[in-house]
Amino acid sequence: MVKKKTIPLLYDHHTHTTGYAALLESVDLTEVKEKDEAVSLIKENCTEDKTNVVLGWNNSYYSFTEEELNEFPPVVICNLSFHGFIFNDKAEEKIKERFGNAKILERMNDPDWVERNLPAIMKFLVKLEGLDEKKLDSFFEYLSENGIWRTDDMLLPDENVLDLFEKTGYNERTDFWADLQIYDQLSEDAKKEVKGIKIFTDGALGPSTAALKEAYSDGTEGILVHRKEELKEIINGVEEDRVAVHALGDRAVEQVIESVEELEKKRFTYPNIRLEHAQFISKEYAEKAKELGIKLSMQPNFSHDSVHYSDRLSGKYAKKNNPFRILIDEVKFVPGDDLIFSSDGMPYGVVPSLEASLFPPYQSQRLTLDEFIAGFCLEDKEEGSIQIEIDEEEKKVSVEKVDT
Ligand SMILES: [Zn+2]
Repeated sequence: MVKKKTIPLLYDHHTHTTGYAALLESVDLTEVKEKDEAVSLIKENCTEDKTNVVLGWNNSYYSFTEEELNEFPPVVICNLSFHGFIFNDKAEEKIKERFGNAKILERMNDPDWVERNLPAIMKFLVKLEGLDEKKLDSFFEYLSENGIWRTDDMLLPDENVLDLFEKTGYNERTDFWADLQIYDQLSEDAKKEVKGIKIFTDGALGPSTAALKEAYSDGTEGILVHRKEELKEIINGVEEDRVAVHALGDRAVEQVIESVEELEKKRFTYPNIRLEHAQFISKEYAEKAKELGIKLSMQPNFSHDSVHYSDRLSGKYAKKNNPFRILIDEVKFVPGDDLIFSSDGMPYGVVPSLEASLFPPYQSQRLTLDEFIAGFCLEDKEEGSIQIEIDEEEKKVSVEKVDT
């Protein structure tokens, strides 16, 4: 059966707007599963005159030897989830020329450092490729074409970006979250522009650094960025009203929820908490989170991680990923209220997000169209609408028209 419906434009609650805008013209390997194709894309599109940032590399499909890397123009290749990087000698030279040293590249080899310094890395990548009005125009055009009106940018790279967004009017379509390091460097005026603080507590599945309770198939255990006492202190000390906490694995999710629970018991004040990703949250901890008023900010797209990362996740964990039915039916999270959705830019657009919601790998990950609309769309059609067609049999979503 084919169903037609007109829905409001999307509010992508967790993306990296400035990061992706700066990297819009970069080679993107997200859809590239064959190494040969990746190699020719990089050789054809990267130039010798600058350090090229390459995106979306999935290391479960292929990797590059040092020799192969050095045949490319200067490149920094980012893992699919931005939590892992490789680069060649030419890139190192170019970066040394430009910044005086290439210390950041050396550090980017260290997964532990990477997990603790993602904002600095994002800032560095934005600097390598540069961000201007033209790039912002093209990026917001691209978002509109894909049915997205508003975004939350989860990593403000620096204060200049706020000026650029204000000048171009795109601040009307963007809210910024800043990590504490960047936040402390902002002027008082800029601080007022920020929606909240972003804190990282673990890594991601791409580089096998999300903190799960069981080891990955290669024996590594993921990275927990803070000790609990440290995390409690950070959350307790935030001066903004809102905090978005990146916690992907169950070990990280439980650490955050326990921290908030302990602050609550001691009657400490803490800001409104949004848990980002929470992919492996258990029913028990979801209930605690609900009780504590913690909002869940999740990505239907990541339901496919159960398949994409089956090389490193056990079957048990693949099934635990994005347990939307438990969260909504059993723990009574309400889409649009305390359960909100986004793409994290992997990839952007109404089609992949809606397909992943309606036709995920596991039934436990399924969302209804109404739940998708409540958690992922703007409240009304004032800014525009999307005419969609859902083919239940083919498990396909297509867009007839986007009106903005
Ligand atoms: Zn993110």
